Amino acid sequence: RAELIDAVLKQLENDNVRSVLLQFSDMVGKPKNVAIPTKQMKKALTEGISFDGSSIQGFARLEESDMVLRPEPATYQIIPWSDEKYRVARFICDVYTTRGEPFIGDPRYILRQQLEKAAKLGYTFNVGPEMEFFLFRLINGHPSVELQDHGGYFDQTPTDPGEDVRRDLVTSLSEMGFDIEASHHEVAPSQHEIDFTYGNALAMADKVVTFKFVAKTLALHRGLHATFMAKPIYGINGSGMHVNCSLMKDGQNAFFDPEGEHQLSDTARHFIAGILKHIDGITRIANPTVNSYKRLIPGYEAPVYVGWSAMNRSALIRVPSSRGKSTRAELRSPDPTCNPYLTFAVMLAAGMEGVTQKIEPPESVDKNIFRMSAEERAAEGIRCLPWSLHEANTALMNDPLLCSVLGEHVVSQINRLGELEWGDFSKHITDWELNRYLATY
Ligand code: GLU
Ligand code: MG
Ligand code: MG
Repeated sequence: RAELIDAVLKQLENDNVRSVLLQFSDMVGKPKNVAIPTKQMKKALTEGISFDGSSIQGFARLEESDMVLRPEPATYQIIPWSDEKYRVARFICDVYTTRGEPFIGDPRYILRQQLEKAAKLGYTFNVGPEMEFFLFRLINGHPSVELQDHGGYFDQTPTDPGEDVRRDLVTSLSEMGFDIEASHHEVAPSQHEIDFTYGNALAMADKVVTFKFVAKTLALHRGLHATFMAKPIYGINGSGMHVNCSLMKDGQNAFFDPEGEHQLSDTARHFIAGILKHIDGITRIANPTVNSYKRLIPGYEAPVYVGWSAMNRSALIRVPSSRGKSTRAELRSPDPTCNPYLTFAVMLAAGMEGVTQKIEPPESVDKNIFRMSAEERAAEGIRCLPWSLHEANTALMNDPLLCSVLGEHVVSQINRLGELEWGDFSKHITDWELNRYLATY
């Protein structure tokens, strides 16, 4: 440890880092940070840095509000747009109590626990998220829903500031150690997607949080606003965060079996079955806002029905065609407002229950579920995802496995926040209601 600390300090000096952002994530997945001058880093790496956790969303506990941030050396990154002479760097931190125990409300800790549990059975969990987002205009410095471009899927709009932001993003992210798989214009106008190469779920959750912070900053530099809101505009596609996932065992992709049906292993089938079994509760975590449920409707490439398929894209879980070491299942319901640590943690726990209990998935649905009638779906036993935050919240509260993964503290915070959010939304009178009822009644 002492050697590691020396190496980190040396690196900071060589890179001319003057100020360090200690980043962590609140329960709703918003990045938070405390800035410290570089000379405090020795203390940060040895004892940690105290902060007041009482006003962090989901952290509040009456009996102890002081908490400690411990930077994770492996997450060191220079902020690429910081001044070369006065470099700013960041570390992602684990949150500890003043007694030196991991804080049970730290989303990163919750994911680490599930990863350790899977590791005891010999598995590592890899994920590859696909980040979709909109770039809107800023009007008088405020985010608007004014479209920036009128492009569509894979369109190239060379003189567009939106394209410039995407290029800036790919450049900066690459400098920050991201492996970018692809980036393209998405289906909706002003909508973009960037996919990173898969990796260990903890590193990837760190990357998702970093990605959002980088995207927002670089968009701002060009006078735009990057939003990860799930469904900002009625009538066009919303933004998803599809999560490709696979298990590795003994250095091999445990989802691949050349002899299996669709060349999928039993492990893959069981993992898929576990996720399908727990999907209603997972939805509360993967789709955490009132607005998330306005995306999960028919007609916009977002999933609505619970099922899996190796053939078509409309399924909630799709098995993309590549095999061998790229064999994976793509969960299409999460949206980018989710807390990635908690989302990957509940996905892994649900999948692992499937694997350890050898749960069989339902038949794969190889037709377009959206073209089936309600009767045909009922005959095949295809259910719908929860329709609202309230419904998903209830499902989570009734899912003992997921509640145990999150722990009592986080579950009670999520329940409280979810019901508050839903209650507040339900009280509001929307334009839709006024247009519909005011003149008629
Ligand atoms: N934007 C769509 C969604 O809401 C997904 C489009 C795609 O298949 O990439 O999930
Ligand atoms: Mg996409
Ligand atoms: Mg996808």
